[in-house]
Amino acid sequence: MSFSLTVKNELCRLENKDNCCLTSELAAAVRINGAAVVIGNGDANLRITTENAAFARRVYTQIKKCCGILPEVIIRKSKRLKKHVSYILVITSSLGSGRLLDNLGTGIEATGTEVSTELVFLNKNKLKKHCCRKAFLRGAFLAGGSVSDPEKTYHLEITSHSYKQAQDISRILETFKLNARIIRRKGSYVTYLKEGENIVDFLNIIGAHSALMELENVRILKGMRNSVNRIVNCETANLEKTVNASVRQVENIKYLMEKKGFSGLPDSLREMAELRLAYSDASLMELGQMLNPVLGKSGVNHRLRKLDKIAEYEREIRGED
Ligand SMILES: [Zn+2]
Repeated sequence: MSFSLTVKNELCRLENKDNCCLTSELAAAVRINGAAVVIGNGDANLRITTENAAFARRVYTQIKKCCGILPEVIIRKSKRLKKHVSYILVITSSLGSGRLLDNLGTGIEATGTEVSTELVFLNKNKLKKHCCRKAFLRGAFLAGGSVSDPEKTYHLEITSHSYKQAQDISRILETFKLNARIIRRKGSYVTYLKEGENIVDFLNIIGAHSALMELENVRILKGMRNSVNRIVNCETANLEKTVNASVRQVENIKYLMEKKGFSGLPDSLREMAELRLAYSDASLMELGQMLNPVLGKSGVNHRLRKLDKIAEYEREIRGED
C-alpha cells in the first residue's frame, strides 16, 4: 500500500466530533473533487468524483449528516483499466444541492448557464476556528492530496482546479506556520510541502497520527544510516591518509639507504627508519610502542618528518625529483 493510501485510510476512520468541523472538511472535499453543472436560475447539479471508495463513503455520510441529503451514487469502471473505478456522488438541484452549498459556505461564481464550473467561492468566516481549519486541510488532502513514500523523498501535495483554490490552501497552511509553494501542472495548481519536518507537522494537523509515527520511524532510521555513512567515509579518508603517508615514508627511507646508507643518521632516526621499513603497515602509535623507551604518536611523527626532510634535501642537492 502506498504511503498516501495509508494516510487516507487512517483519515477516513477519524470522526469529526463537532458539526463545524464536519462541514469544513466537506467544504474542502466538495471544492476540490466537486463540479457544478449550472441549470439556470442559479441552480446547479453537483457532482463529487473520487477514486477512493473509503473517501466516497465518508463524503456520502457527511452530506447526509450535514443536511439530510442522500446523494445518488454512480460507479464508473474504466474500460481500459479494469481496476480503475470512479465513484461519483450526484446531488441534483431537486435533491437540494443549493442547500448543501449554502451549508458549506461554498458557492458558484457562474458567468453563464449550462456550464460546468468549479466551486470557487468560499466563506472565510466558516474557517475562523482552529479546529475547522484543520478539518478543511484534512478534506483537501483526502480530495486532492498525495504524499511520497518517506523512504524515497519528502514531498506532500494537494492538487486544485484553480490558482485561487491552491492559494486558499496555502493561506490556511500559513496560519499553522507552514510555508507551501504553488506550481502549475497540466492545467491544475499544486500546493506542495517539502522536508520531513513540514510533512510531520501537516500530518499532525490533519490528525493522521499513526502515519506520522511511521514517517518519524523512517526519518530516524534514515538519520542513523546517514551518520553511519559519514563515520565510514571519515574513517576511510583517514585510512587513506595514513597509507599514503606510510608509502611516502618508506620510499624516502629506501632512497636514503640507497644513496648514503643509515650511518650518517643519529641513532634515534636510524632506529625509526629501520622500524618503518620493517613495519610499513603499523600506525604511528604502534611504531612508538616498539621503541625503548616508548615514544608517543607525535614524537614518532616528528622523527618520520625529519627523515622525509633529509630525503628531500638529498634529492634536491642531487638534482633529482
Ligand atoms: Zn470546527
